[in-house]
Amino acid sequence: MATSLSYLAPVYNTPSPSAVVAAVPTSAVGSSSATSAIATASATMSMNTASPSVAGAATSATASAAPMMAVSTVKSFPFLYHINILILVLFAIFFVAMLPRVISARLAPRARFTGFFLLSGGGSANTPPARRPAENLQHDEDDTQTLHNNNPFEDGQSMMMPRDVSPVVFGTPGGLGGTGPMRVRSLLSLHPLLGAIANYSVLPGWPLRKLAVFIIYFGIYLYAGLYRNNPFASPYRAAVLAVSQIPLVVACVMKNNFIQYLTGVAYEKLNYIHRFAGRLIVLAINVHALQWFFTWNRTPGKITSEYQTDLVRWGTVGLVAVDLLFVGSLPAVRAKSYSLFLATHVLGFFWFVVAMYIHYPQTLPYFVTAFVFYGYDHIARAARTRVTTAYITPQPALNGGSTHVALPGLTTGWRAGQHVRMRVVNPSLPTGVALPLAVLASRIRAHPFSAASAPNANGLELIIKKVGGSTRSLYSLAGGEEAALNEKKAGMGMLADPEAAFDARRVKVVVEGPYSGPAARFEAYSGLVLVAGGSGITYTLSLLQDLLAVHAQGGAATRVVELVWSITDPGSLVALLPTLREILQPRAAPAASLQLRIRVHYTRAPRTPPPPADLLPAGLALLPGRPSYGRIIEDACDAVRDSVQGSPRGLAVTHCGPGELGSQIHGAVGNLSWSRWKEAGGVEVHAESFGW
Ligand SMILES: Cc1cc2nc3c(=O)[nH]c(=O)nc-3n(C[C@H](O)[C@H](O)[C@H](O)COP(=O)(O)OP(=O)(O)OC[C@H]3O[C@@H](n4cnc5c(N)ncnc54)[C@H](O)[C@@H]3O)c2cc1C
Repeated sequence: MATSLSYLAPVYNTPSPSAVVAAVPTSAVGSSSATSAIATASATMSMNTASPSVAGAATSATASAAPMMAVSTVKSFPFLYHINILILVLFAIFFVAMLPRVISARLAPRARFTGFFLLSGGGSANTPPARRPAENLQHDEDDTQTLHNNNPFEDGQSMMMPRDVSPVVFGTPGGLGGTGPMRVRSLLSLHPLLGAIANYSVLPGWPLRKLAVFIIYFGIYLYAGLYRNNPFASPYRAAVLAVSQIPLVVACVMKNNFIQYLTGVAYEKLNYIHRFAGRLIVLAINVHALQWFFTWNRTPGKITSEYQTDLVRWGTVGLVAVDLLFVGSLPAVRAKSYSLFLATHVLGFFWFVVAMYIHYPQTLPYFVTAFVFYGYDHIARAARTRVTTAYITPQPALNGGSTHVALPGLTTGWRAGQHVRMRVVNPSLPTGVALPLAVLASRIRAHPFSAASAPNANGLELIIKKVGGSTRSLYSLAGGEEAALNEKKAGMGMLADPEAAFDARRVKVVVEGPYSGPAARFEAYSGLVLVAGGSGITYTLSLLQDLLAVHAQGGAATRVVELVWSITDPGSLVALLPTLREILQPRAAPAASLQLRIRVHYTRAPRTPPPPADLLPAGLALLPGRPSYGRIIEDACDAVRDSVQGSPRGLAVTHCGPGELGSQIHGAVGNLSWSRWKEAGGVEVHAESFGW
């Protein structure tokens, strides 16, 4: 091994003698011209380790003898080191721009020192959570006719036609406190057009701001790869460039993420950088390898002789690893089998690192940096993992079938808007040495779910929609199919007590987190519009509950809150009505007044009659058809202007739901008039997506 590597020159962009031999025209092999070409190239190698200018001169001298080997005239390692410094400087500028927001959000009373570890806070995992009282949405017999006419898609003349409602008001106009934490404006809230341009969707999933990051990064990458370097003649730079980007690629995907600590940008929102930077690494490694094969192929028997060296063998092992990693991460593979994706990703990465290190040990500092991130993440993940008891209940009507998960043993430690990763480890949790292995296996296969509750004495709640493999199994484990059948029978009057099958089942789960969360504290804003689509209600509920808790203590500047939830069928509302009723309950808060309204829109003809409007709590409207986000946001701006004395502190709009929801919200905010925008103190959009 040592012998085979010893013929490498001290700098990576220097061609090996074997490559130089390969570059010499076959006809010249053995002739005096070939000998002189090799001698000239060898001179280049030794000079290339000196100053770039000397190396440059030597290169041009070599070019006439070996035209294929127009080697790079700068040393790759120092050059790429400076390229990485440039990337760090750009990051530092972003960090400085975000710092005031990060500090103000982190120092807000309910955010201080929280959001790292799930804690029991005195909660007991052995005490099943209290069941929320069942809803009685039936009118007396006399009203039955009205109830059945209450379908606006069929009967626009119904006496019980759904109608919009007035908000409920908590607190009193001259009540306590009400300043909230400091609000640091986002740059995009300075003008409606800025946000609209930044979030303009160029391609599905690619708003302009993401594309800009990609273009800047790709520009730097091309510059780094091509500056005074011919990639077709000198493939070294491509390989070193690829390896030099590994720390960035790893840093962007860690759940315990330094970039997030410094800028407030959640790890799942950095995933697109991980993906495109990762793909550029794969491309560069393949360019590097192909160029060598192409060069060797010009000399008969050269490929075979090159494969006698460890250098080339290990290089090929690394190439196979990186290509395996790439194929395993294709969207089709990821969607078909997440486990296969994960296995090829982790295995491919380790395999690649080992092979690259043996292939070229000077790359070690990059791998060490990547492993510092990786190691820290895994230690922190272990520290943030809990094994606890969960009580699972099926909710067949909610979003086409969901499971409610209550974790009474975890009552605090997360911030509203954060998510956890969870996996059931039932039925029999092993003991002894097998336990950590079982926990690790479950943790690897855990899925992310947003907290559906703010920290409270009853514990963490999750609402999990059945989508694919694991969420369907969870639903079945909770008794979802029987519950759905019971609900149907009850609807047909064949079952007296449909609630009977809904008793919570007890399971052991591994929960890891909490992670991410919004970069802003919403109690700092004068107004808040929370938009949820389908299962996105979970994220929204925790934000709302948290805001109301802060408000009750006089710690919120917020005066106007509008929640808009789009669902396909009103059955979803029925399932969540006890929670919403609890939220809307009148409460005697000593704080300054806050008005809250919840509008639930259903977008398809209901399968069962929607609940009558007069049986819904005050402040809650069930409305047919799609919401007009433009009008809702305009009205919220006006309400902020009217309810705040002095200068309003802006309106925050959060959204969580299907991809197109984000474009609709950004479009609506972008269309606001400048005067309305100013009167509300600016409008900011905060997005949460249930994807990567
Ligand atoms: C930050 C975040 C918060 C979320 N919050 C909620 C919530 O509150 N309620 C809710 O119902 N849904 C939520 N989701 C979506 C939820 O995570 C998915 O619906 C769930 O992972 C699907 O798993 P499955 O096995 O049923 O489906 P599958 O069909 O097996 O997987 C669906 C997709 O999920 C991906 N996936 C599979 N396994 C994993 C894994 N271990 N880690 C990450 N991705 C994986 C795969 O790419 C696959 O394409 C959230 C997602 C994210 C990213």
